[in-house]
Amino acid sequence: MSDRECLICSMEDVDPSSRVFADEYWAGEVAPGYEVPGWFFLRARRHAEKLTGLNDAEVAGFGRHAHDLVSAVERVTGAPAVYLLSFGENYTHFHALVCARGVEVPPEQRSGALLKLVADGRDPAAAQALAGQVRVIYEEIVHCREPAPVG
Ligand SMILES: [Zn+2]
Repeated sequence: MSDRECLICSMEDVDPSSRVFADEYWAGEVAPGYEVPGWFFLRARRHAEKLTGLNDAEVAGFGRHAHDLVSAVERVTGAPAVYLLSFGENYTHFHALVCARGVEVPPEQRSGALLKLVADGRDPAAAQALAGQVRVIYEEIVHCREPAPVG
């Protein structure tokens, strides 16, 4: 699959309102076609295939970003569970889904079955609005960890 045909690569052009953050190696965004409120893709910005295709710099940043994005989604949604999932089946370009699982989701639709929500749980406007709230909290989490300026 070339970079051009890759959905994950095409997210470089996602609407800025869908983006929680982006740095040199990673981005967190609402993904086209997966606009369920509280769902985000954490993706390598380079077309790196599978977890094992990441370079050392990408590996070093993954845990930090996964932690901070899941934390921000937890705080904004209040969801009792926020999943971090990676399949690499449909799109080998490494990415992880961060999925808030709300209290309204019945037990039979939890865990892997949650993904069936994409069929009728999509709400692009609500997903983008939530992305804005998550972005604010994400930036707060990152800011609070940075050392205070000297002087
Ligand atoms: Zn790609």
